[in-house]
Amino acid sequence: MSFDPVDWPAFRRLAHRALDEACDDLAHIAEQPAWRAVPPDVKTAIAEPLPRRGELLDAVYERYRVTIAPYTVGNRHPRFFGWVHGAGTPAGMVAEMLAGALDINTGGREHAAVYLERRVIAWFAEIFGFPPESSGIVTSGSSLSNLIALLVARNAHDERIRRDGVSGRLTAYASREAHSSVARAFDIAGLGSASLRDVAVDTERRIAIDALVQAIAADRAAGYTPFFLCGTAGSAATGATDDLRALAAIAREEQLWFHVDGAFGALAQLSASERHRVAGIAQADSLAFDAHKWLHVPYDAGCVLVRDATLHRAAFAGDVPYLGRSERGTAAGDPWYYDFGPELSRGFRALKLWFTLKTIGLDALGAMIGAQCAIARAAGARIAMTPGLHLLAPVGLNIVVFRSEPPALASDEAALDAHNAELAIVLQEDGTAVLSTTRIDGRLALRMNIMNHRTTPEDVEQTIDAVVAAANAGGSARFPRV
Ligand SMILES: *Cc1c(COP(=O)(O)O)cnc(C)c1O
Repeated sequence: MSFDPVDWPAFRRLAHRALDEACDDLAHIAEQPAWRAVPPDVKTAIAEPLPRRGELLDAVYERYRVTIAPYTVGNRHPRFFGWVHGAGTPAGMVAEMLAGALDINTGGREHAAVYLERRVIAWFAEIFGFPPESSGIVTSGSSLSNLIALLVARNAHDERIRRDGVSGRLTAYASREAHSSVARAFDIAGLGSASLRDVAVDTERRIAIDALVQAIAADRAAGYTPFFLCGTAGSAATGATDDLRALAAIAREEQLWFHVDGAFGALAQLSASERHRVAGIAQADSLAFDAHKWLHVPYDAGCVLVRDATLHRAAFAGDVPYLGRSERGTAAGDPWYYDFGPELSRGFRALKLWFTLKTIGLDALGAMIGAQCAIARAAGARIAMTPGLHLLAPVGLNIVVFRSEPPALASDEAALDAHNAELAIVLQEDGTAVLSTTRIDGRLALRMNIMNHRTTPEDVEQTIDAVVAAANAGGSARFPRV
């Protein structure tokens, strides 16, 4: 009485059909709206009672096909520019399916998946100029990577903290443009989000070095113990990248752990034209970055690298009898990933990284990143020249933040905020394009993240045209699909 199919040929037909339809969907994604709202009746249909009795796979697949598949967030679509989203790849999709078929737990033990993950980590160490003996772990994303890095740094500062908890005088530094996951890591780690000081930024929205030096000195004078400095490579709001070389020097001088949150911006390292922006990244003690953003590995996939593998392991390893290691047999394979992060059971994310990196190749990934930054700069230049549109920050990497400023609303900041918020929603609901919004110095901005490998320069042009058309229509009227 196993849970395997009674009728394997029928299962096989359904599985092939599901894969065929997933391929069709991807191959024709550009013909779909960029986003479709989930209709109320679909929400009702999803809210089913407990499934006491099993149904046929065909019936469950049919439910998936009509209630789930059409209503995605849209990140695979070429005119999806919201937040920071990768677009996935067909090869990554195949890897996800295979990982599911193998049903592997990579928390530890002796099996090939662990060796594959080590190889992927070693590739990234090489890409970022980390020493070959540094360590790392594939994670669910930079939120977890930032947390792991902080826990390693906390333990490196004082290894008694794992047992005794935190005493409350440790301080850390990041720019006020740093991602919310950094402050959240301090909260989760019990260090308190207030111990992470928000440092001012310069006109390029990079951490202001003099303000940073002053903040450290002020904290020391007040009896605090600075221990951690977080640089940002590619801020989520505008793509700004801190001067990582300057931060590395300050961290060395002040004896701080130097972490870089490079969720997407770190991958500028792959682009010959953009690499200079992240110069100094190789000097970090730890680096968080995502594979599900600029590498387009299907969600979820992130990574953290730690220069000192011994410190990395010391932050998580424990002596648990039933997780004991052996020289031979299934319990070999030391060290286990259990020793490098908070999870024991974890899936085989490294497989989709490996499939993606190997099938696309680093050269093409880097060329794509460079091309997207060039498209973003061109979009920024066009917006700066378009009457009624205004850039709100310099184009950092691939992100353009701007707003519509109709003369009728001139200097009414509340009305301008509402107008631009409405523009983003109108374009989304219409299915034309997805822009997200952010605030730049208090002003609501439209935000265009040009990251999708399916996006063409025409998609960007047409989206700016659509913003102008919607703004001219009053920001709330419907306008034709581009
Ligand atoms: C996306 C992002 C994060 C968080 O990463 P997740 O993969 O969403 O957990 C952290 N920092 C920056 C700069 C980001 O863009």
